Amino acid sequence: MDVRDDEDYDEASQTEGPGRVSELSYGAIDKTRIEAAVRELLLGIGEDPDRPGLLGTPDRVARACEEIFGGTQEDPGRYLRKQFHEPGNEEMVVVRDIPFSSMCEHHLLPFIGKASVCYVPRDGRITGLSKIARCVTGYAHRPQLQERLTSQVADAMVRELDPLGVLVVIQAEHTCMTIRGVRAPGAQTVTSAVRGIFKRDIKTRGEALRLLGL
Ligand code: ZN
Repeated sequence: MDVRDDEDYDEASQTEGPGRVSELSYGAIDKTRIEAAVRELLLGIGEDPDRPGLLGTPDRVARACEEIFGGTQEDPGRYLRKQFHEPGNEEMVVVRDIPFSSMCEHHLLPFIGKASVCYVPRDGRITGLSKIARCVTGYAHRPQLQERLTSQVADAMVRELDPLGVLVVIQAEHTCMTIRGVRAPGAQTVTSAVRGIFKRDIKTRGEALRLLGL
């Protein structure tokens, strides 16, 4: 599916209402500070940050960080506020295999994978499919843990859509496990977060898992 959907969500819906607080609060991204830290890191590994090949590196890393950690500057749940109403529709919706990349907060190394989100709307309260992908990307663009990423997406769905149930499954490969440490390339970590009807109703959960190909 197309994650880079350019359709704008409602400007008014971006504002945080009273009582709506994000899980964590972050400071602004400080490019100068990142550049200084990268220069220091290069010195730390015994490199010469002034050799031609590395001269532009602090600036490049800082600009990459603005993108990779851009999700710290937003409430990714806001994308889900773009909603439609299909009265009476309480049929299961599955968005499978949303690709994402995130950074493990323990090693600052990438983990890359796919997220699948399944929900049962309450009385036809649905959101755009690409909005769910944007929400995943927003939470992924933070220093993360796969477990927390999974819960944050599920909780944002609950908060913004009040659905009858939500099931989020994330599968990813962690480079902190493949290029260092145990060096287990190909090892996949799978996490799930279950809310509402999927928690109580085994039949509904089974149907969701079947649609997710699990
Ligand atoms: Zn790690």
